Amino acid sequence: MSDLHERYAASLMNSFGPPKLALVRGEGAHVWDNEGREYVDLLGGIAVNTLGHAHPALVAALTEQVGTLGHVSNFFTTPRQVELAERLLALMTPADVEARVFFSNSGTEANEAALKLTRLTGRTHLVAMEDAFHGRTMGSLALTSKQAYRTPFEPLPGHVTWVPFADVEALAAAVTDETAAVVIEPLQGEAGVNEAPAAFLTAAREITERHGALLWLDEVQSGMGRTGTWLASQPSGVVPDVVTLAKGLGGGVPIGATIGLGRAAHLFEPGHHGTTFGGNPLSCASALAVIDTIERDGLLARATEVGARLRSSLARDPRVTEVRGLGVLVGLSLAESAAPAVVAAAQEQGWIINATGPDRIRLAPPLVVTDADVTAFLDAWPGLLDAAGLTAPGSPS
Ligand SMILES: *Cc1c(COP(=O)(O)O)cnc(C)c1O
Repeated sequence: MSDLHERYAASLMNSFGPPKLALVRGEGAHVWDNEGREYVDLLGGIAVNTLGHAHPALVAALTEQVGTLGHVSNFFTTPRQVELAERLLALMTPADVEARVFFSNSGTEANEAALKLTRLTGRTHLVAMEDAFHGRTMGSLALTSKQAYRTPFEPLPGHVTWVPFADVEALAAAVTDETAAVVIEPLQGEAGVNEAPAAFLTAAREITERHGALLWLDEVQSGMGRTGTWLASQPSGVVPDVVTLAKGLGGGVPIGATIGLGRAAHLFEPGHHGTTFGGNPLSCASALAVIDTIERDGLLARATEVGARLRSSLARDPRVTEVRGLGVLVGLSLAESAAPAVVAAAQEQGWIINATGPDRIRLAPPLVVTDADVTAFLDAWPGLLDAAGLTAPGSPS
């Protein structure tokens, strides 16, 4: 155990368990630990490092902004804040629908703002999906179905009904004229990368409209280009009332955004909600650099291309029973409950990947990951499954 791990244990709360590595430096999709070992980061800070590590565009934008104006509070605005709001609306909302943005600092805060918006409809009942993950503050946690996360913190804000993910009939049965909002991750991330079919999103739009409820899409993990479009829900053509963003938005700098469309654009009035840091020029400058770089370097197409390659190649190993996801949000199911062992073997061999369950692996590499890194990982993959002790189906174990 390195000195840093001992100091960590003696100085930080044990809310994450022991850290797997102590990292000191990064460049592109590569990171180095405090012992000088190099890793290819195929998790990207959990779908955050859109542009990888130390991207020159991000370094330049942040350096310039912090040297000009770093923070001002929400008594004031800044050019970066307005520019970012305009860019997000232009990229993510239809031109003929009124929309407005509220900035915060994380995914859970983006959802917390959305949750407060739903209360301003005059209704309190919410419908969420089983296995959903919306964050760890009390409001976001109230929307999470997983008992282990909830129990120690109950009572949580109530009046939430959960329905099986992407089940149209169950959703139709759960939504009433008392429902304030339905909240859906179009691509569930923490649950192991489960995609909602476009038909489910379309049905959710119809059902919420029929009952005067808001449709709230949590794109904190799936948004910002990771799936090959700015929002994972865009190809469905569904126009929601609320969209929440965070993770990839700032490329590693904390920022969250809650977008309200139509009547949800104007529910907040002065005094309803606030934040000291939200929308500060530094985080807005980083998000603008992320958006500019995605556009300039064609990274949406790149996410689609790299994701397709990963999915088709990884699925060739018979020990992979299912591949899921869109773009560079990739979920795999293994034939055995060996995902943690695969993650450990990968780390041993210089790859950072993640287990979302006993038999589920998630990859969320930076959009700038190179073909050479992808090829090397695909070459290494069968050996990682061997090292974790997975045997081919039908072979003697
Ligand atoms: C990560 C995540 C959140 C919470 O974001 P934090 O920045 O960790 O608070 C919320 N919703 C989804 C879909 C997420 O993946």
